[in-house]
Amino acid sequence: MRKNEKGFRCSFCGRDKAEALILIAGVDGHICETCVEQAQEIIADELYATQKNVDQEEAMGVELILPKDLKKHLDEYVIGQDEAKKYLSVAVYNHYKRLRQVKTDDVEIEKSNILFVGSTGTGKTLLAKTIAKYLNVPFSIVDATVFTEAGYVGEDVESILSRLLQVCDYNVGQAERGIIYIDEIDKIARKGDNPSITRDVSGEGVQQAMLKMLEGTDVNVPPQGGRKHPEQKLVKVNTENILFICGGAFDGIEKIIANRMNTQVIGFGNKDKHKVDRENLLQYITHKDLKSFGLIPEIIGRLPVLTYLEPLDKEALRRIITEPKNAIIKQYKKLFELEDIKLNFTEGAIDYIATQALEYKLGARGLRSICEAIMMDAMYELPSQKEVTEFEITEAYAKEKLGGSMLSKLKAA
Ligand code: ADP
Repeated sequence: MRKNEKGFRCSFCGRDKAEALILIAGVDGHICETCVEQAQEIIADELYATQKNVDQEEAMGVELILPKDLKKHLDEYVIGQDEAKKYLSVAVYNHYKRLRQVKTDDVEIEKSNILFVGSTGTGKTLLAKTIAKYLNVPFSIVDATVFTEAGYVGEDVESILSRLLQVCDYNVGQAERGIIYIDEIDKIARKGDNPSITRDVSGEGVQQAMLKMLEGTDVNVPPQGGRKHPEQKLVKVNTENILFICGGAFDGIEKIIANRMNTQVIGFGNKDKHKVDRENLLQYITHKDLKSFGLIPEIIGRLPVLTYLEPLDKEALRRIITEPKNAIIKQYKKLFELEDIKLNFTEGAIDYIATQALEYKLGARGLRSICEAIMMDAMYELPSQKEVTEFEITEAYAKEKLGGSMLSKLKAA
């Protein structure tokens, strides 16, 4: 590589070394990174077209796992949320099947980006993270609220891809078949019905900027993220095969759903035919409700797989504490095991933790901090008490520890 020498240019496209990110020297010429990529694409196309039995699985680098098997794996880590798991498994399966599709006719399978609607701490991020880990593809989480329209303070939407590039060490090929979770997508909804009254730099403008990326296009990405600036060298990433999973709580959307359903019920005069579960209206969510909420139709169209997450009740929270492969209690037990202490939680203690989590209204998100508050003294004291080999967390102990913690003071405030 002779990146810094003067006068060299790519023998294929003619770009000189100042324009190219990398210029690789050959016997009688040079080639830049863009031409290498293009050549690679040509080779891949040729191979697929002529050699049908090329092991495509390996070529794409992602194993194709059946929807049922994907769901089974999710079951090991995520409690409940059967509907969301099913939708996610099918969408992911179709997505990676689409990736290895050999184009023989005009039928082109479209991308199956996903939208999760559900309150905070119900497992949206966990689902996305678990599936990406299982598939062994690069995964990154971004928060939609940090983005603003180009020209305003905040980050350019292109930096969504910077994080993905960073997790796979700037391996563009790997990044191009990764998964990106965009959190708080509801926060970029258009505010109010008339966007022209005030400038809506973090709402509709950002949605517009995201459109192409969600659909699939070449994006010039600032490798370090943030704002693009003129002297920066940009990395080209194609988003055609990147799966986008968006999530949001969509606070208040239940009202929109209820309104729509009321008019529908009256309209069709079949009040009793379908008993409506008013406790969990999210299950009836449609793309139309998202539009009423403030997502622009184009964005909605690019998130064709819409599913919801159930609010977690006490029983679900109880199971979350104990059942998943890396359940919080299993983690504490492991920590104590390393000190040669056998840790036990009574049923009463587990019940108490679940009840408290429910009161904080943070979904399963509150479990960790509640457990930390309960366990803090034990984690502080026990390592220096070598004679202790067993320790039990009872309901009374949990109550006492949580009662005196900062956490309970927060709740009282
Ligand atoms: P959000 O829906 O806000 O994205 P997260 O997926 O980040 O919520 O959940 C926060 C934490 O709560 C997770 O790391 C996980 O430990 C726990 N959690 C949430 N929902 C579930 C669930 N259904 N099953 C198991 N753990 C869960």
